[in-house]
Amino acid sequence: MDLADLYRDVIVDHNRNPRNRGRLPQPSHSAEGNNPLCGDQLRVTLEVSDGVLRDIRCEGRGCAISTASASLMSEAVKGHSLAEVAGLFGQVHQMLTSHDAVPGPDLGKLAALSGVREFPARVKCASLCWHTLNAALAGDAAPVSTE
Ligand code: ZN
Repeated sequence: MDLADLYRDVIVDHNRNPRNRGRLPQPSHSAEGNNPLCGDQLRVTLEVSDGVLRDIRCEGRGCAISTASASLMSEAVKGHSLAEVAGLFGQVHQMLTSHDAVPGPDLGKLAALSGVREFPARVKCASLCWHTLNAALAGDAAPVSTE
């Protein structure tokens, strides 16, 4: 596999300068996620009120794909209703798992991650942040794992 095919400009940019980095001081929701296969670790903290995801921070260490994916996710979900977030997750999941799926216009920059579906191990890097976000919204106390 040629990593250059994966690391398109958007991914490189979001890995070098992750958006919404860090941890909210008083989150309404939070969760931890681990991807043992790659070693990616992530904590997502959220501020949710009135059914809207008003703020999000992602903190952790991991490979370029996991870092960029968390950054892209944070931009995509911030300020959106939980119903919209759930809809976006469905589209991302389809994009990452279905070889026939064409990324819809709603995905925006998230489409930059569509190339990882050719590399099953990398799908876990890209989806870790979404599973962690879901765990936070569901109130799961135990860390989520991609294994
Ligand atoms: Zn990774």
